[in-house]
Amino acid sequence: MWVYIWLVAVVILGAIVGSFLNVVAARVPLEKSVLWPGSQCSSCYQPIRWYSNIPIWSYFCLRGRCSVCGARFSARYVIVELIGALGFAGLYYLVLVRNIHGWPVSYPASIAEGHYPLSWWVGYFHNAVLFSFLLAVALCDLDSLEIPLSITLVGTLVGLLFAVLCPWPWPNTSEVTRLSVPLGTNPDMAWIVGDIKQGIYAWPVWGPLPSWLAPGGNWQTGLATGLAGALVGTFFLRAIGFLVGTGLGKEALGLGDADLMMMAGAFLGWQLVVVGLFVSIVPALFFALFNALARKEGAFPFGPSLAAGVMLTSLCWTWIVPWGVQPLFFSGLLLLGVVVVSAPLMLGISYLLRLLQRG
Ligand SMILES: [Zn+2]
Repeated sequence: MWVYIWLVAVVILGAIVGSFLNVVAARVPLEKSVLWPGSQCSSCYQPIRWYSNIPIWSYFCLRGRCSVCGARFSARYVIVELIGALGFAGLYYLVLVRNIHGWPVSYPASIAEGHYPLSWWVGYFHNAVLFSFLLAVALCDLDSLEIPLSITLVGTLVGLLFAVLCPWPWPNTSEVTRLSVPLGTNPDMAWIVGDIKQGIYAWPVWGPLPSWLAPGGNWQTGLATGLAGALVGTFFLRAIGFLVGTGLGKEALGLGDADLMMMAGAFLGWQLVVVGLFVSIVPALFFALFNALARKEGAFPFGPSLAAGVMLTSLCWTWIVPWGVQPLFFSGLLLLGVVVVSAPLMLGISYLLRLLQRG
């Protein structure tokens, strides 16, 4: 019973958030206040009354028209509200009903009835807030090919707050977070091949944690995880933008994309944003195809792909880890090797692309 009550609640909440994000995407790039004045019809400038401003519902009741002058509203508003509602419902199903992050279960029977622990709700809220910020940024990028720093900066601060309040491995206790490797193995190896419990933050900043952070679960671990994520997010994207841009001989990635990854890093930690950038190639190809079919324009924003890639990475982490990414992130030597090999490779490939385009 409670499973469905919560579902209805998160669908309504998601639609309201989507409705608010429409306002954010329309006003923040113009540096207008998002709180005042209330919504107006863009045709007759009459304020939209509250009963005509109920997300999704009003759009279909009024058949997408202004109740005063009858001007048609863009379908985009109701689409974003639907994305918000479906996104919040999807996160609810994956994070709470299916428990894809593998958070600890003390009373399986009560969870099956929809009585989720408070820590799970905090984790759900963390995922939903990240989703909302990414959606706002993606909308702005689609509209104007710009990502407002005011959104990504606020997002980064909110992410850091979550990092401090929900340090890895919480809601796991350090007792549960025993790494599954044979006794007598080098403890460093445990971090390379062992099974790391996912908290709300999937992985800590480094493993094994240095003595001043061990055994985790304290605010210092959280802050280090969030800060490293924000720093790596912004610098990793700038570095790739620099390499590819130098190779191609033109600007490859915008600074707004780096800000987006800074924000995502504060929410997810540095390992997930690095993987997220590679995962975002999949939605980027999809968007490029869609773009080519629909509008035939060359340029399209990378922000929505990054947002989708980061969100996918966070939700699919359980299934991404077995692909062998873990050793790369907990062995300093291996990590250095990857950087040394891939940086010239990236420069070389983009230079080849430039030659091909010329030819
Ligand atoms: Zn009107």
